[in-house]
Amino acid sequence: MSQLRFKMVDAAINHSAVEVEKPEGRASDYFSQKVFNRRVMRKYLNKKTYDALIDTMRHGTPLTLELADSIAAGMREWALDNGADHYTHWFQPLTGGTAEKHDAFADPDGEGGVLEEFAGKLLVQQEPDASSFPNGGIRNTFEARGYSAWDPTSPAFIVDTTLCIPTVFIAYTGEALDYKVPLLRALSAVDKAATEVCHYFDKNVQKVISYLGWEQEYFLVDESLWAIRPDLVLTGRTLMGHESAKNQQLEDHYFGAIPARVISFMKDLEYECLKLGIPVKTRHNEAAPNQFELAPVFEEANLANDHNQLLMTIMDKIARRHKFRVLLHEKPFKGINGSGKHNNWSLGTDTGVNLFAPGRTASENLQFITFLVNAISAVYRFNGLLKASIMSATNAHRLGAHEAPPAIISTFLGTQVSAVLDKLAASSSDDIIRFDAKNVFKMSGISHIPTLLLDNTDRNRTSPFAFTGNRFEFRAVGSSDNCAEATIVFNAAMAYSLTEFRKTVDAKIEGGMKKEKAIYEVLKKMIDDCRAIRFDGNGYSDEWRSEALHRGLDCEGSTPLTFDRYLDGKTINMFKATGVFTRVELEARAEVKWETYTKKIQIEGRVLADMAMNHIVPTASRYEAMLLDKVYKMSQIPGLNAASDIELIKSIQNHTAEIQKLTHEMVEARKIANRIQDQREKAICYHDTVASCFDEIRRHIDKLEEMVDDQIWPLPKYRELLFIR
Ligand code: ADP
Ligand code: MG
Repeated sequence: MSQLRFKMVDAAINHSAVEVEKPEGRASDYFSQKVFNRRVMRKYLNKKTYDALIDTMRHGTPLTLELADSIAAGMREWALDNGADHYTHWFQPLTGGTAEKHDAFADPDGEGGVLEEFAGKLLVQQEPDASSFPNGGIRNTFEARGYSAWDPTSPAFIVDTTLCIPTVFIAYTGEALDYKVPLLRALSAVDKAATEVCHYFDKNVQKVISYLGWEQEYFLVDESLWAIRPDLVLTGRTLMGHESAKNQQLEDHYFGAIPARVISFMKDLEYECLKLGIPVKTRHNEAAPNQFELAPVFEEANLANDHNQLLMTIMDKIARRHKFRVLLHEKPFKGINGSGKHNNWSLGTDTGVNLFAPGRTASENLQFITFLVNAISAVYRFNGLLKASIMSATNAHRLGAHEAPPAIISTFLGTQVSAVLDKLAASSSDDIIRFDAKNVFKMSGISHIPTLLLDNTDRNRTSPFAFTGNRFEFRAVGSSDNCAEATIVFNAAMAYSLTEFRKTVDAKIEGGMKKEKAIYEVLKKMIDDCRAIRFDGNGYSDEWRSEALHRGLDCEGSTPLTFDRYLDGKTINMFKATGVFTRVELEARAEVKWETYTKKIQIEGRVLADMAMNHIVPTASRYEAMLLDKVYKMSQIPGLNAASDIELIKSIQNHTAEIQKLTHEMVEARKIANRIQDQREKAICYHDTVASCFDEIRRHIDKLEEMVDDQIWPLPKYRELLFIR
């Protein structure tokens, strides 16, 4: 086996940068080349069809089947002209990945030939044979039908030779079985609620759009080395491995020069993304060795989310071309930073105003503060749920590990914005608003908001939900997550908060209060009520944990228990009021979360046991036998002292015995957990009795790695995995 390790290390060293073919022209020439975008639609659709489709995209107007036929015909022509021969509905089931089933355009014409067909009904709706997607019990086998239905707001695209049509995925009985349905519902809820609140300030606003700008972190490892690490292959992370003597302590990787092989991969990936209309913008090294980041320019949230899902698939494909494997696991390596996704979030009006950006006039700023306060209030009221939305067996390793946001949600506003809110909350209602001659209202002491806020440059890297000047950045999202999970929660909670806000303000106005004063009064109370969520200090500190507990924030650390937040009364009410989830859908989702958690830990437990017993213990025993042989021979020669070898043998004995004992205990614990029927109980049992064994087993293995002869160690070591040459 060690022979294999050296062979693979050798192969990794010899992998050189792959020559990348640049598409012709400049980025503006090939951007969106593989997307059925408006420019192409105009060419392939007649005017009536084009106008109807645009209307559907803008206002959600339902399409007739006749129009669908006409769109499908245009789409087919475009796809065939661009080399496609298959089509697929592309959807996002609760597995977290994407799903597709390809069908050929060509159909027998009955006369011995084939014809390329694509009818409107195939575009609009399909019934995937999908009974084996996670559904949390929604689809019992007798009603095992699921439908995928076209989402015209996200354009179709071509990958390889397949036309991909973004779709939602729903049960026969109408429940959502994917991430897109609730995301679209949440976006529509926040549009409605926010537009109504905007009308206090500007009657011209007709639509509020939620934007998402994700940043994707990832690791690359050489494919040869990856292939002989069963843990990386099967679980996406290293379940064992002694820290490399050098890792990130010199801080020499972050923003450092990107290795040639990696640059080549990045270029290839970026060309592919640009052709698919993903507006990739930024690339850089991250903090850990072999860790990188890619970020596009933000887009409307539904499209941005599709693009992130698509990116994760393409990354994997391109990485293989470069003899890499991309690791999207949140914590592939112990002792160095893990990977996350940052969801940058803002709301903007169709009149071009960013509602999270301070404005130039006092009225714009009152609007800004209204949206800001509603956002932090929403985060406060649903902080536990927000955490549940990003919790998983994999992300749990990263949160709270002094490198990523802690497993407590708080918001960072920066000193200036904080001061403005505090002043506002402390002012007495009479000195709040004064109108000057031009009817511009001023707030005592803070009439200078506009200029002051514009240079908000504070940065707090430890906050999970940070205000960064014109948007919020939610940093606790896992690198492998579907961004939609968190995006659904903050948009729905925001919609809920805004609706309540408006009702309260309206009641005051009806009672005779002036509009601005009513708004101030409600905001003041909200600022007071949600004070506990604001934290500008060090989120990694131990004091923060006790302080957060004291403040009543959700500090639950067990992943399966965090999922309970999906079924809290207030969660169910909020999602019902906003029309995002029914109770049945929430129960199903929680069920899927528990089940997925269990399966992930189960797989890790199996792989760990296999590696411990079939790789590590035999290797350690071999080395031990070599030592025993040596000691025995030494004892034949008077005057030689084998004491230190004997100590080493004892130590190896001790660690292998512990590994055997603990592995046995873990396997027994798994057997007990497997007998539990209830998914929640089972996940809790896996968390408390199975996952809890991993660290201790690993500790002994990592000790052995330090003792056993490097020549026979079977697994690529961290120093080999982590430094791409
Ligand atoms: P940093 O790493 O400092 O957070 P980046 O430039 O890597 O900054 O990423 C910032 C992300 O935020 C990008 O995806 C960018 O498009 C996005 N973004 C910028 N402005 C907005 C906005 N108003 N709404 C949503 N996302 C935004
Ligand atoms: Mg960021």
